[in-house]
Amino acid sequence: SENFYDILSDRFPADADAPFIELESGRRYSYRDLADISGRYARLLADLGVVKGDRVAVQVEKSPEAVFLYLACLRAGAAYLPLNTAYTRAEVAYFLGDAEPKVFVCSPGGAEALSATAAEAGVGTLLTLGSHGEGSLADRADGLDPAFATVPCGADDLAAILYTSGTTGRSKGAMLTHRNLSSNAATLHRYWGFRPDDVLLHALPIFHTHGLFVAINCTLMNSGSMLFLPKFDADAVFRLLPRATVMMGVPTFYTRMLADERLTREAAAHMRLFVSGSAPLLADTHREFQARTGHAILERYGMTETCMITSNPLDGDRIPGTVGFPLPDISVRVADEKSGEPVAPGAVGILEVKGPNVFAGYWRMPEKTAQEFRPGGWFITGDVGKIDERGYVHIIGRAKDLVISGGFNVYPKEVETVIDAMDGVVESAVIGVPHPDFGEAVVAVVLRRPQGAQAGMADEAAVIRACKAELANFKVPKAVVFTDELPRNTMGKVQKNLLREAHKGLFD
Ligand code: ATP
Ligand code: MG
Repeated sequence: SENFYDILSDRFPADADAPFIELESGRRYSYRDLADISGRYARLLADLGVVKGDRVAVQVEKSPEAVFLYLACLRAGAAYLPLNTAYTRAEVAYFLGDAEPKVFVCSPGGAEALSATAAEAGVGTLLTLGSHGEGSLADRADGLDPAFATVPCGADDLAAILYTSGTTGRSKGAMLTHRNLSSNAATLHRYWGFRPDDVLLHALPIFHTHGLFVAINCTLMNSGSMLFLPKFDADAVFRLLPRATVMMGVPTFYTRMLADERLTREAAAHMRLFVSGSAPLLADTHREFQARTGHAILERYGMTETCMITSNPLDGDRIPGTVGFPLPDISVRVADEKSGEPVAPGAVGILEVKGPNVFAGYWRMPEKTAQEFRPGGWFITGDVGKIDERGYVHIIGRAKDLVISGGFNVYPKEVETVIDAMDGVVESAVIGVPHPDFGEAVVAVVLRRPQGAQAGMADEAAVIRACKAELANFKVPKAVVFTDELPRNTMGKVQKNLLREAHKGLFD
């Protein structure tokens, strides 16, 4: 069948003792463990009445058993629905009410507080899974037959519902099919040249497409293994790096590594590939990383709704500040936001995407889904970008972050690029704030280097001067606010909605 698990298991290593996951403690899980544990979990789900199309919601700490639960859902034909571990009870209540899962798996510590919430949402069974694999999921699966016959699924059947990060508004449930997952896994596996002996250093969360589908599915396609960390921890990363060949991370992983003197050419000499995504990688970070290690970080771009869309090449120039080429089986075009007509070559517009990677729609939001597609099946990403003459895709920002000041469009990235290039500046975020005359005013929120602040290099006047020197007047910030930290979510995305909220009274 086209069940993604069948596609994966056809490729599993002949030697079932081959390692799949290794923890920092040294504990190892083989491909046999994967098959047996996911088989028992799938058996339990089926015994609990889970049938094809049912949702299984999961809010648990990262663990190998959580990965086996994901695979068990595929095997049982259920839709795996992971939730960010940071979500509060009220947020979980919303997601459970929206998704109506038949089974909800939460952390042992959270079960008491969440049982009423789960009952209200009509959840049939509440199970627990702790960070060491303990809890009622394992207890009840213990002793069940591991030889579970995977439920046959078609390519268009639902495999997972992943909620978007909620960077621009309320998270939406993206319905992903077996085809979405299998096509993207196969494409990335090939495009990034995975080798039989590759070992992936996995420090990402697994409730998000990056850590779950990009990292884990590539490893599974490769019948390879992962060094599995509960989260990014510089000590653990540098301890395990010598045994890894591939690392995937969000940009903050790389800035934290750069801030550490253990990041040297020798420490990274044996590495084959560093991949970055989920948020823009500053061109400076790319260059500093290359200068320090000799490795050009490979930046790629994707969304919860589409899995991965573009990637810088494995062989060939990995250009800082770009997200590379559309993946081989995926089409990307740049269109006018209003008309949906493709723009002139090289011009800026909204990125639209089409291919086997594009999701089946937002869960229970048919109108929202219809709004986000053009005729012909193009999905409107909501990201502003362009494609240069060499075919590299550039992301300029999100349509929702566009500032309209005095009737003129200002792309924050253009202003941020000028400010970020200043000596005393680490990074900046440019937002629109309500303004009595201009509708919105451009405001720059700036994070300075400590020594820059001391030398007085990047004060408000200097930032404005630098912008005036390079930008049309309407793009120059009307105010500059200095901060010690830009608000980011777990995936390292700057939360501009929080900045807009914090500074909305600036021109009252
Ligand atoms: P929501 O849709 O709920 O507002 P979100 O869009 O942040 O949240 P995700 O699906 O996790 O949720 O993130 C996809 C977005 O992340 C893309 O649309 C894009 O804006 C951004 N992104 C991903 N990779 C990159 C990258 N390499 N460079 C710049 N932006 C990126
Ligand atoms: Mg989004």
